[in-house]
Amino acid sequence: MSKIAFAVHGGAGPDSEYIKKNKKEYEKGLEEAVNAGYAILEKGGSAIDAIEEAIKLLEDNQHFNAGKGSALNERAEVEMCASIMDGYDLNSGAAAIVRNVRNPISLARAVMEKTQHVYLGSIGASEYAKMLNIPMEPDPYFITEYQFEQYEKARKKENDNGQELAIEQLGKKHGTVGAVALDKRGNLAAGTSTGGTEFSKPGRIADSSMIGIGTYANNNTCAVSTTGEGEFHIQHVTAFHISALMEYKGMSLQKACHYLIHEKCKHVTADMGLIAVDPKGNLIAEFNTERMHRAMRSSDQKLIVKIYPDQ
Ligand code: ASP
Repeated sequence: MSKIAFAVHGGAGPDSEYIKKNKKEYEKGLEEAVNAGYAILEKGGSAIDAIEEAIKLLEDNQHFNAGKGSALNERAEVEMCASIMDGYDLNSGAAAIVRNVRNPISLARAVMEKTQHVYLGSIGASEYAKMLNIPMEPDPYFITEYQFEQYEKARKKENDNGQELAIEQLGKKHGTVGAVALDKRGNLAAGTSTGGTEFSKPGRIADSSMIGIGTYANNNTCAVSTTGEGEFHIQHVTAFHISALMEYKGMSLQKACHYLIHEKCKHVTADMGLIAVDPKGNLIAEFNTERMHRAMRSSDQKLIVKIYPDQ
């Protein structure tokens, strides 16, 4: 039987009381998502189907910063970004700063499969989702009590200081969900979806929606989904870099991921994390943060669900 492999992540960053308190819920959400994607692959389904299904579950789960439970921007609004890529033909789709779309990953997939474009943004993207009858939700659906509290804290801090605050001063509040897959036909795929960084400027576009940065897949090398502080991932072209290190330098997946995060970017003080899979079904999670929510499973590896670094 050909090998299959699947992994999801639910964001990398600092630990928090909220994460500690909701550890079980996070683990349950990760397990459900990885099992849903894996079940599709087991039945012979495509890597793209598995990615969309798992990410939809994470977007619908209020604990993760994507879809319901997204971070709020400076105006207390939710603007979401997502992308998906098929390693078979490099076909890709992305949607940026969309509002009210319940599952931005499904919109990204529709852009990939039904348009001549790769990337739709803002009002045009949301209108396209409506036209395709992709489920929409009213604003309050996306705003959770937790995210509103975070927003209020950030707003209060900014008011107290009377000036614009850098995101680090606000305590690095961000998060994302993502998935990578290898299906029975040997096809790789990746997808990523986010509510972005907390208290960002309206109109900020997250790296998670950028092909080659948040998401990349190529059957010859690997599929990658990244998480962390998007502005830094953009500077380091993270997801494509992993593929390039494998293709141009002949590195293994594990070596490429370790090299990028811990050697090439070791001077980078920002949060960076990623999950990746190669055509042999090797699964990697690499991060420089206190925690990265993740779960993985393959023909060779039983289910792993983790939040903190390996011991
Ligand atoms: N990369 C996401 C962003 O910058 C956030 C994250 O992954 O934590 O919007």
